[in-house]
Amino acid sequence: MIYLDNAATTKVCLEAGEAALFAMREAFGNPSSLHGMGIEAEKLINFTKEQIASALSCSADEIIFTSGATESNNTAILGLAANYGKRKRRVVTTAVEHPSVAEPFEKLKAMGFEVCVINPDENGEMTADMIIDAVDDNTCLVSAMLVNNETGYILPIAKAFSEVKRYFPECYTHCDAVQGFEKLSIKAKALCADTISFSGHKIYAPKGVGGLYIKKGVRVAPLLVGGGQQKNLRSGTESVPLIYALGKTVEMLTPTITERYEKASDLKSHAIYKLGEIDGVIINSKDNYSPYILSVSLPGYKSETVLHFLEQSGIYVSSGSACSRGKKSSVLAAFGYGDKLLDSTLRISFSCENTHAHIDSLADGLFRARESLARIK
Ligand code: PMP
Repeated sequence: MIYLDNAATTKVCLEAGEAALFAMREAFGNPSSLHGMGIEAEKLINFTKEQIASALSCSADEIIFTSGATESNNTAILGLAANYGKRKRRVVTTAVEHPSVAEPFEKLKAMGFEVCVINPDENGEMTADMIIDAVDDNTCLVSAMLVNNETGYILPIAKAFSEVKRYFPECYTHCDAVQGFEKLSIKAKALCADTISFSGHKIYAPKGVGGLYIKKGVRVAPLLVGGGQQKNLRSGTESVPLIYALGKTVEMLTPTITERYEKASDLKSHAIYKLGEIDGVIINSKDNYSPYILSVSLPGYKSETVLHFLEQSGIYVSSGSACSRGKKSSVLAAFGYGDKLLDSTLRISFSCENTHAHIDSLADGLFRARESLARIK
C-alpha cells in the first residue's frame, strides 16, 4: 500500500495506540471522580495539556480538548461571536476555509451577522493586507486558516492578525491551524490568534480528538453545556485515552518539526519533478506552499476516475479534498482553478513514512492512467 492521503488522515503511530490502550485499561477512571482513579485519569489530561502547551508555547490552562477540529472551529467561531458580537455585528473569513469554518459563518449570517468573505486575488494569493483591509471598527471576529487543506497554500496569519490586533484590538482572531500543527512551528503568541484549532488524526493520533487554544482572558461561549467539565468550556467526560494518545504524538513530533519539514520538502520536490515529466500534468503548487501537500491536475481526466485507477495499484490519493466528497470544490475555484482543472485535480499529501519509491510508483500510475483511461470532453 502506498498511502499518499495524509492530509485526509494518518495512520495512528504505535506509541499513540499504546498510550490509548494504557489509558483505557489502566487509567480508566472518570477524570471528574474524586477518588484516586479519577485523580489518575485527570493527571493524564493535565500532563497532555502541558505537552500541548509546550508545543504551542502557551500555558496549560489555555488548552481545552474537543472531539476534533470541527468542534474546535465551531466552538471558537460561534462562541466568540456570541460573546463579542452583540454590538459589533460584522465577521470576516476567507473563501478557502474548511467547511467546519465556512458553515459556522453561514450560521452567523442566518443569525443576522454581516459576513465578509475574502477571496484570493487573480494569482491565487491572499496577502495580509487583504485580510487587514476587510476588518473595520464594527468587526468582532476574523477567522482564517494557516495552511489550506486542498492546495497547501500558507496564509500570512501572523502578519495579518498582528496588524488586525494593532488597529482593531477589540476584534477577535481565530485560526484553523489543523494542517500546520506539528508541521510548521506554531507559537500561539506569535500567531496573534485568540483561538487556535488543531486535530489529532492529521498527526498520527486517533480520530475523535482535537483541541482549542483559548488565550487567557478571552471568553468563548461553550457549544456543549452539561456537567461543566473543562472549566465549563466543554461539557462531557473527557476522552482520556484519545487525549493521552494525542499528547504522546505531540511530545514525539515537536522536536522533529524541522527534520520532518525537510523530508516532506524533499518528497514534494521529487514528486514535482517526476509528475512534471508526464505529458499534460499541471503542478498547481508553488515554492512557498506547505511541503506536505501537492495539488496536481491532469486535464481531460476526471480526478475520481484517476483516483480509482491508482487505487487498483494500491496507491491512495485524494480528489481535491476528502471533505468535499465528489462535489466541485469551491475552495479550488476560489484559488482560480478553471472548470477543467476543478474536475481533474488530485491532492497528494505526504507523511514521514513516504519514500521516493512511493512517488516513483505514483508517477508510473499516473502515466498509465493517462495512457489507459478515456479522456472526458
Ligand atoms: N480544518 C481543516 C483545515 C482540515 O483539513 C480538517 C480535516 N479535514 C478540519 C478542519 C476538520 O478536522 P476534524 O476532522 O478533526 O474535525
